[in-house]
Amino acid sequence: MSEDRATTADETEALPEPGSVEVVEPDDAAELVEEIADETVADGSPEGTAGPILIVLDIDGTVLLEDESPSPGVVDAVKDAAAAGNEVMLATGRSWDGTRGILRVLGIAPEYVVCSNGAVVLKRVDADDLAYERVHTETFDATTVLTLLREHLPDAHYLVELPGGERLYTEYLDDWNLLAAHRVSFEELTAQPVCRVVVVSPEHEEGDFLSLVERIGLNQVSYAIGWTAWLDIAPQGVDKGTALELVRGWLGLPADRVLVMGDGRNDVGMFEWALRNGGRAIAMAQGPDEVRAVAGEVTTSVQEGGVAAILGALGR
Ligand SMILES: [Mg+2]
Repeated sequence: MSEDRATTADETEALPEPGSVEVVEPDDAAELVEEIADETVADGSPEGTAGPILIVLDIDGTVLLEDESPSPGVVDAVKDAAAAGNEVMLATGRSWDGTRGILRVLGIAPEYVVCSNGAVVLKRVDADDLAYERVHTETFDATTVLTLLREHLPDAHYLVELPGGERLYTEYLDDWNLLAAHRVSFEELTAQPVCRVVVVSPEHEEGDFLSLVERIGLNQVSYAIGWTAWLDIAPQGVDKGTALELVRGWLGLPADRVLVMGDGRNDVGMFEWALRNGGRAIAMAQGPDEVRAVAGEVTTSVQEGGVAAILGALGR
């Protein structure tokens, strides 16, 4: 029955001009989504035939395993989802330098990419060359927060990202891709506004780090803690969700035609954003409890191909 309905809806949308997103008014699109949701209530999913979905994937722990190899099935699943007309994009804490190669691995060139946990949004200039330009950056003065952190974590390693993409760091760390990054003194880190601060404290456990950060209070910034005592700091009020709302508007997609997937505390903002607007937010099984609790759904782990499981079920 739902398949019959799907065929009908496809035909209804087969207007002379391609690009149904542009020709359907937002209100009409929302109604169409509702209609189709009523018809396909069996699986409770918002996917139907009402046009493309904005599919947003985190990179580390979602698309990639810890050793940077792709999660099982993810490359084919992304290819199929994109071929079905959906907009598949990435939203990551990584800088653009660390993100571009992943687009190549996945074989996609989305119109927008969200980097640096929402502080940087890039727009495609040339798909074949994977050339992108920065269309939105958020910065903040990191002097206060860095000074405060250094008082408590004198041995930590610090890295900042500048709005143009340049990265400055104090101490070498294996985990960091420091290609094209510059080693500077601690004082030089705060010489200009930054998009992002990363603090890694190898001698701390994740739990120690969480309680320390809570104790010192980081009120003027947004932050998220990853595995191995990794602290990511963004401008206040900025997260993947704030950047994605800009992107969604630029793409002209309805707010409920959104599906986001991630595994970490830096994904909580985009989970809340997606759910608030009637979209789907899916956490990876290996993520922390508090991250899974915020998501509307949980898929299998990155090792087990959690993204492929969700994308493979779209449009079925
Ligand atoms: Mg992640």
